[in-house]
This record gives sequence, structure tokens and C-alpha cells, in this order.
Amino acid sequence: MLKAGITGNIGSGKTTVSKVFEVLGVPVFYADDAAKKVMTEDEILVSGLKEAFGEAAYFEDGSLNRKHIAGIVFNDQKELAKLNALVHPAVFRAFDSWVAQIKHAPYVMKEAALLFESDSYKMCDKTIMVTAPLELRIKRVMQRDGFSREEILAREARQFTEDKKIEMADFVIKNDDTELVIPQVLKLHELFLSLSH
Ligand code: ATP
Repeated sequence: MLKAGITGNIGSGKTTVSKVFEVLGVPVFYADDAAKKVMTEDEILVSGLKEAFGEAAYFEDGSLNRKHIAGIVFNDQKELAKLNALVHPAVFRAFDSWVAQIKHAPYVMKEAALLFESDSYKMCDKTIMVTAPLELRIKRVMQRDGFSREEILAREARQFTEDKKIEMADFVIKNDDTELVIPQVLKLHELFLSLSH
């Protein structure tokens, strides 16, 4: 089955655009939601995290001690890389089993903020980058989450630049209020349908 990856930097509208594909009947896997789930549901990951960050990584009831892990990885690139090296494969496993149980779909999509940073794009047949100017993205996220400009810029700094991702992606969807999004989605949808036949 054809797998299309969709990404975009903070506030670009990748989730909003993915919902349009869903309306067209395309199953979408939301990697960031899955990443939260696997933290307690993927046994390989749970034991890996305990080994890497100590038993204190989980509370007695099995829930994740986010503060403990955040305290270790915060401002420590090596520890953060260790965390990512455990979590990303678990999300890949979750995606694989999600794809395996889909019976009737011409193609599926994976929506991930770090599609390119996590190498997860390598498992996609085609990739889409959703773009919008930084100021518009900041405005959207301020409105949606009440984050400060500094918080948003700090998150932006942890992602590859838009230019780099545009270069890496097969397709770009402009979600910048100058071009209609739905025609751009429909065009790619038609293309993916034809590729999947
Ligand atoms: P993040 O990575 O921060 O989760 P995202 O790329 O998934 O962001 P969305 O959550 O889809 O982005 O969009 C960010 C905000 O901007 C949302 O509140 C959404 O409703 C709004 N938004 C997205 N696209 C548009 C648009 N074309 N017009 C108006 N508002 C939009």
C-alpha cells in the first residue's frame, strides 16, 4: 500500500491539511499521538526507557513519569538522542501494525512533526511538506495554545528549517492564506490514487 508522509513546521497546518485527506477517506496515522501512546503500551520501549533512565521513568501504576525523563533530557543532547532512539522505532512499530490492519484504502498517510528529523520519511513512498510564513505560524500557535513568541521560536529552532524540508519533500502544500488548500489536496489525492493503482 502506498504510504504518504505529511509534515510541516510548528503551526503550518499539517494536522488541518491531514484532516482534509481524512475527509476524502484516506486513513491518517498521527505519529505524535502515537508517540504518547507507545510510551506506556510498547513493552520493548517501556523496558528500554527503564534501562536507560531508571525505574523512576514510570510510576508504580505504570504511567509515565514525564518529569523524571524531561529532567534528564532537558538541555542534554546525548540523553535526548538516547530517548529519540528508543521512541522513534516504537512509533515505527505502531505505524506498521496500524497499516497491517487497514484492509480497504488506496493509500495511507502518516502525519508527523519530525518526519524528516526522525528519518521516518524513509519509510514513506511520497512526502508532503505543508508551509506557511513564520509570522503567520506564530500567530496561529499563539491563538491556539497561548504560547509566547519565544516558546514558539524555541520549538521552531528544534526542527529543520522550512527550506531544508521543502528541498527534501516530494510535494509542497502552501497553507499561507494566499492559495486555496483544498484544490492542492485534491490534486495530490488524485495523483496518489493513480500511483496506487
Ligand atoms: P503543530 O505542529 O503546532 O501541532 P500543525 O502544523 O499541526 O501545528 P494545525 O494544528 O493544523 O498545525 O494548525 C495550527 C492552527 O492554525 C490551528 O489552530 C488551525 O486551526 C489553524 N489553521 C491552520 N490552517 C489554517 C488556515 N488555512 N486558515 C486559518 N487557520 C488555520
